[in-house]
Formats: sequence, C-alpha cells, structure tokens
Amino acid sequence: MTRIASVLEIDAAALRQNVLACRALVEKRPQPPALGVVLKANAYGHGLTEVLASVHDTIAWIDVITPDDAIAIRAWERAHERPPVEILVIGPVHADEAVLLADENVVVAIGDDGYATWRNALARAGSRPLRVHLHVDSGLGREGFIESDVERHARAIVAHAPELVLEGVLSHFANVEDVTEQEYARAQVSAFERAARTASDVAGRPLMRHQSASAATFVLPEAHFDVVRVGISLYGLWPSSETRVSTRVVHGTLPVLTPALAWRVPSQVVRTLPTGAFVGYGCTYKTSRATRVAVLPVGYADGYPRALSGQAHVLVDGKRCPVIGRVMMNHIVVDVTQARENDAPLVATLLGRDGDEVLSAEQVAVWADTIHYEIVARLGAHLRRVVVNGDAHKSA
Ligand SMILES: *Cc1c(COP(=O)(O)O)cnc(C)c1O
Repeated sequence: MTRIASVLEIDAAALRQNVLACRALVEKRPQPPALGVVLKANAYGHGLTEVLASVHDTIAWIDVITPDDAIAIRAWERAHERPPVEILVIGPVHADEAVLLADENVVVAIGDDGYATWRNALARAGSRPLRVHLHVDSGLGREGFIESDVERHARAIVAHAPELVLEGVLSHFANVEDVTEQEYARAQVSAFERAARTASDVAGRPLMRHQSASAATFVLPEAHFDVVRVGISLYGLWPSSETRVSTRVVHGTLPVLTPALAWRVPSQVVRTLPTGAFVGYGCTYKTSRATRVAVLPVGYADGYPRALSGQAHVLVDGKRCPVIGRVMMNHIVVDVTQARENDAPLVATLLGRDGDEVLSAEQVAVWADTIHYEIVARLGAHLRRVVVNGDAHKSA
C-alpha cells in the first residue's frame, strides 16, 4: 500500500507567469535590467529542482546563499542538458568551496574579509579564476563592507588577480517593503552608487551593479541597475501590502502575481467524536456536539507552525474547516462536520486553492503571527513536491 503523505503542488505555469510579470515591469526602463531570481532556502520552500525545471530557460541569473545550492544547480543543468545560467552565491564560502565554485563558473559575493584565504587555495588547485562581486552594506547592517572600507577591499581583491576577478558590486535594502515612503531606500541607493563608483575606479572599468529584491523591483525603478534579484514575487507572493499599494502608485496598474504552491494532505482517518470529547495535547479543545473530525498526518515537523493551534482553518471540498486543538509534531485534527456527511477519506488543502476558496500564505502567516516568507521557507524539504501545469519535458 502506498503511504498517505502530504503533497506540495508546484505550479510551473504560475511560476512562468510571475517571471513574465516581473519582466514586463522592468522592461519599461530604457535600459532594462536582466532578470535574476532568488532560489535560496530550497526555492522559498517550493523545491529547488522543481522551480529550476519550471523557469530555468526564462531567466538570466540565479541567486543562492550556499555553495551547495550552486553546485546542485550546475549538476541539474548537466543532467538535463541545459545551458548554464549565471549563478551568484551570496552567503559564506570556504576556501575549498571557492575552488569548486571557480571550476563551476559560479560567481561569489565577497562581503567580509574571509576571501583572504581563497587565493592560495585557488592558486594551489590551478582552478579557473573565481569571479566575484563586492557586497556593499548600504544600510542593512548585515553582510557587506561599509562605505569607508570599500576602496581598501576593492584594491585587495584586484590585487588578488588572476585568482580573483572583480566583476560586480551588490547591495541589499533594509525596509523597502515595510514602508510607503522611500527616503531610507533612496539614501541606500546613493550610498551604493558612491561605493560602486569607488570600486569601479579601482577596477579601472565599469562593474556590474545590483541592489533590488522584489519590492524595489516594483517600486524603485532607479534601483534596477544591471540585474534585479526577485525572490518572493517569483513564487507569486507580494513582498507586503505596502509594496502592493506603492506599486499601484508608481505604475498605475498592478501586475498579476499567481501563487505557485498548494499543500494537499490526505486524511489519515475520518471519524466522529461524541459530545464532550477532548482533542489534542493539553485538552485545549472539547467538542460541544457530535463532531466529525479528520486526522491529518501533518504537523510542525513538516513546517505547519504550532502557532496555528486553534487559529487556522483548512479547506475540504472548498469549505473552510477549523483546525481544533493543538498542532502536534506529526498530526493536526480538523472539524469537517460542515463539509462532510460521512467518514470517507478526504484530501485537505492547507495552502492554495480548493474550489472557490483560497488559503493564502499571507493569511496563514497572520494566524501564525509571522510573515508569509517564513511560512513557505519552512515547508519541510522532505515533503513530496510535484510539478503541475508543466510541459512533460520540464518535470523535475
Ligand atoms: C532574499 C534576498 C533577496 C530576495 O528578496 P525578496 O524580498 O524575496 O525578493 C534579494 N537579495 C538578497 C541579498 C537576499 O538575501
């Protein structure tokens, strides 16, 4: 017997539409930037290979955090006989990984002085030159060199030729999606432009520049530069409601973003509990009538937040059914009395569309008191993912 398990449906057509929507937006510029997509965190929980299968042929750059992801993308490209696209690793890189990445023609962001150890490793290995982008901290306070350190590090990187080749400069915004007034972001643009000029002067030629994630791609055209790094919007989700409002102001219209994920869970058992029965750990829920419940084999170990206890509903046959009692490690219990008239097995939708109802990641995030980025990024890597609405040859 096949085991009952969760399935994440990844909608290839939706992903491709979102790529087109983002491209249409940036192509309004006289010199449009290239489109880059951010596939970190297992492609925001959607599945790295499933998302690659869906959009690889439509994009110019891919941004990831870990060297492992970059290597996995190159392996996927070889296995599927696809031409390599540009990949940028934004996170920390060890010297031995720098060698691997150089040989795979992957670009690496340098945001701290860890790169000092790379040169010897690259020289010893006789690898190809490692292409690097200098990460500028224009005001996020995370990684990157502050403005006053940019010249010194640009010189050091250039002095590490031929092992290192300085090709670009990047930075990241702090709060474009949190506000509708963008003074702080504009100050970050100015700081980045100054730092980029400094680095380009040191390199003796113009360097590639990039600063925009999804929100700035929508609302700050002056920050598009040479390539944008679209994360959350690739998956059909708005960075925030503020960004939605601002996008309408800036463009006069709203691009259509289509959520690309649905989470379906078949029931483990459907049965009827009598009046006065307790449900779940802590006995936090007691039935006040005969209650038909579905036990679903999914819980916080799969990325369904425990904070949803007593807060959420799921969809069954297009009807909202409350999650009752606490979310457990591997189980939730749902009241399906309104949706079902017998104990036949059912499939519940935890995220996505079912009939006329939709359960958005934003809604689930509100119930769990977090943001939708966290809801999707924490979907278990072990969950089964299937690509739907893709061409047969694009299946992962
Ligand atoms: C995550 C990330 C992005 C993408 O952000 P979204 O808001 O998801 O579009 C872009 N750049 C960097 C450096 C990031 O860490």
